[in-house]
Amino acid sequence: MKKKKRIIITVDGYSSCGKSTFAKAIASELGYLYIDSGAMYRAVTLYSLRKGFVSGGVADAGRIISALPAIKVSFRTDRETGYFVTLLNGETVEREIRDRAVSDNVSAVSTIAEVRSKLVDLQRELGAGGGIVMDGRDIGTVVFPGAELKIFMTARPEVRAQRRYLELVSKGLPADFDAVVKNITDRDRIDSSRDVSPLRQADDAVILDNSDMTPGEQMKWFRKLFNKRMNES
Ligand code: C5P
Repeated sequence: MKKKKRIIITVDGYSSCGKSTFAKAIASELGYLYIDSGAMYRAVTLYSLRKGFVSGGVADAGRIISALPAIKVSFRTDRETGYFVTLLNGETVEREIRDRAVSDNVSAVSTIAEVRSKLVDLQRELGAGGGIVMDGRDIGTVVFPGAELKIFMTARPEVRAQRRYLELVSKGLPADFDAVVKNITDRDRIDSSRDVSPLRQADDAVILDNSDMTPGEQMKWFRKLFNKRMNES
């Protein structure tokens, strides 16, 4: 019997439109590995915050670039959930990288070309064997331009803000609705307008606007697309 090909699936899109929930669900259905590229940018940002290399949305690119050799981002698999957990120089930082200070500064750190180049190398290494779902901003355009299946996710801004707010509340994290709206708007603006690898839809990506879709409906949409793509190849 012909062995089923294990492809690369990229999920890019705006902040807080449910990329990671969707990407995790499809990875778990297919038995693929889910990789959160945003977690890597967040880990470098956490390091930079701790060292005082970034604050108030302004990054000291020179000092961050000099520190790059000392910043090691890696992952381990959580025994209970089976998901990757992010490590910064060996320390588990999965919770810390979701803090508001990190969210408020990550887009500034992500504009630095040297930071991107280091993390893109790591992303390509992790995805080299296929059988992965990776989410982010430039995965279908820059990291894996040859990926077999590319999805570009979006949702109306007010829906995204509400989802992010509820996610913070459910995790018991401090949540302020106006601050969430500002953070999402700022990140989308910086991520889409930066010089290096800006957020944009790959020409061959399929758009998923999930504003009015349940997780079940999104999976149904995905199964149809995936089966069609696999039958074509
Ligand atoms: O995906 P998440 O919202 O956690 O990403 C946090 C930030 O990391 C984004 O707002 C963006 O600035 C940066 N990022 C990026 N390229 C990626 C993934 C994330 O620039 N592939």
